[in-house]
Amino acid sequence: MRRGPIPKKTRKSPTSKRPKAPDFLLHLDEFVSESIGEKGLSVLHSVGDGATDEIIEESTQLKIAEIRSILNHLHSYGFVDYTREKNMQNGWFTYTWKLNLDRAMRNFLMMKRKECDTLRETLSTEECSAIYSCRKGCSRFSFEPALDRRFKCDTCKNDLHAIDNRKELKRVEVKIAALEKMLSAHRDVSSPRPGE
Ligand SMILES: [Zn+2]
Repeated sequence: MRRGPIPKKTRKSPTSKRPKAPDFLLHLDEFVSESIGEKGLSVLHSVGDGATDEIIEESTQLKIAEIRSILNHLHSYGFVDYTREKNMQNGWFTYTWKLNLDRAMRNFLMMKRKECDTLRETLSTEECSAIYSCRKGCSRFSFEPALDRRFKCDTCKNDLHAIDNRKELKRVEVKIAALEKMLSAHRDVSSPRPGE
């Protein structure tokens, strides 16, 4: 039996490719850069098949504290997992981070399904009723709430007029169509299991 600390495996090789589902990874990249920013993206890319904080630090040139906060953020979405190993000499833990592609896909698609549902709701509410707003655009009301206010804006007291929201609804429709296309391309990916 061997004694002493177990030699650390260097799991990240320069030739390690990013995992399967390349088109999904593009969506994931887009989401991470929108929600965490470019630094989040570079951390996500350097995690790959397994990387310690130090390896990520080397490849991203970011500060460890910043890297950890980004990793926690990615972990909260369920995109990355970690394993930890105790260093027998100094008692510190080494964290090795890894992309959990399957769970990332499930969680990401679940968020997008919710977003799509919300947009569909907006569309169906705004499509079948006139929308009223003041000329400053402080708030938007459907007919009943506008009537309750006697067609006066709560904020600026100007009159509420029916507005032309066709352009905006068009934008919502386009967004829904894009989401639906993406969701149907990944229809085979099931929803997250409870507790994930
Ligand atoms: Zn107003």
